[in-house]
Amino acid sequence: MDFLPVFLNIKNQPCLVVGGGEIAARKVGLLLRAGARVAVVSPLLNDALTELRAAGKIQHRAAHFQESDLAGTALAIAATDDIAVNQLISESAKQRSIPVNVVDQPELCSFILPSIIDRSPVIAAISTGGTSPVLARLLRARLETLIPASYGRLAELAARFRDPVKQRFENTTQRRRFWEKILQGPVAEMVYNGRDDEADIAIQAAVEGASSTDALERGEVYLVGAGPGDPDLLTFRALRLMQQADVVLYDRLVTPEILDLVRREAERIYVGKKRAYHTLRQEEINQELVRLARQGKRVLRLKGGDPFIFGRGGEEIETLAEEGIQFQIVPGITAASGCASYAGIPLTHRDYAQSVVFVTGHLKDGSMDLNWVNLAQPQQTVVIYMGLAGLDILCRELINHGMPTDRPIALIQQGTTPHQRVIIGTLETLPGIVATTEVHAPTLLIVGEVVRLRDKLAWFETGNGH
Ligand code: SAH
Repeated sequence: MDFLPVFLNIKNQPCLVVGGGEIAARKVGLLLRAGARVAVVSPLLNDALTELRAAGKIQHRAAHFQESDLAGTALAIAATDDIAVNQLISESAKQRSIPVNVVDQPELCSFILPSIIDRSPVIAAISTGGTSPVLARLLRARLETLIPASYGRLAELAARFRDPVKQRFENTTQRRRFWEKILQGPVAEMVYNGRDDEADIAIQAAVEGASSTDALERGEVYLVGAGPGDPDLLTFRALRLMQQADVVLYDRLVTPEILDLVRREAERIYVGKKRAYHTLRQEEINQELVRLARQGKRVLRLKGGDPFIFGRGGEEIETLAEEGIQFQIVPGITAASGCASYAGIPLTHRDYAQSVVFVTGHLKDGSMDLNWVNLAQPQQTVVIYMGLAGLDILCRELINHGMPTDRPIALIQQGTTPHQRVIIGTLETLPGIVATTEVHAPTLLIVGEVVRLRDKLAWFETGNGH
């Protein structure tokens, strides 16, 4: 180990920054966040530092560095682009045993500043010993995704209950078990969801009620949108819940790559529906969610796209609410957004479409019950989910209700996945093209002048078809 990691308390301590540019400003910002009294020495200040000076947040001496600037200072940072000056600051500080950091010159430093993840009071610091700041930043980005934004509030909660828990459990093992349960179970989830009051009540109850840890062991359902297919399009929250589930119920739209990210030990239950058995199966899924949650499990209901867009998410939570089961809903990127972006088709555009509508083209008794007059309005993009089987009817009705026959329409197959394929036609030609092409589900249809923009915008497409 080349450096000893420590966290310094510099609250109200005088700290010196030499330099007036952007990097100096960044270091000043960091010191201020840690509560230091900052003095800046530099002939000139950039805008950010000038503002801080005007607001009385920093002291400033408009001159070049002198050794006397170090008098009484607790810590010094050199951020000038003059190597000789940096050297002088380093030597003078070291002589006075003042910790000194020289930006980008590790050999002149007595301490280095790590890359940090700030969830105050929780702080994670990463250092590569000055060898590669970029590597530290990359690592930091990875950790950022794993640590929920409200981790700090979880730590504050732990602080509030530290003493009561100490009194309640004399044995340290018991205490550790208790905190493990709190910090990764439903109570933590309450905090992440802004239900801090509920979390307080749950801990309180667990501390007081000698044997009852009910609230900590209650099952819960996570209704999570998995996005359209590319695992990169998952939200941080979706990923976190996927990694702590005991059991996952998923359907056809969830790709294997996404399923791979679910906790390895979690039981996997496939509930993909066949169209004809829709109603019955949905009832069964609702009941299954309740049954599993009642067993105290963390149940992940993973759905393609967004659970509230043609996902029957509403029905599932209705049952949960009726049965008094705790649940969370995590939005996902819906197929329309995902497919449109990856196919280079903007859903709205100042010149071509001021509105966009999402409809389901699901056939009922061989027909499509849609408000055709509304859909055929000009300057509007129409996105059709589940529209492949009814493509002929769809194109015919839109033409019958006034859309021009040459209105472009795109069919996007398995959007955002490596198998994405985009087929472009018009209302008149697409049904014929699709009839002679092998098309794989799922597919999404986009109707509108915006489809023409694809030629200009789709340069980044990675899929193999056009
Ligand atoms: N809740 C989902 C939609 C469920 S309905 C969402 O928000 O995206 C199922 C329909 O979604 C499919 O028939 C298809 O029309 C569309 N769909 C979902 N994922 C898709 C994908 N990767 N590519 C194309 N269409 C998709």
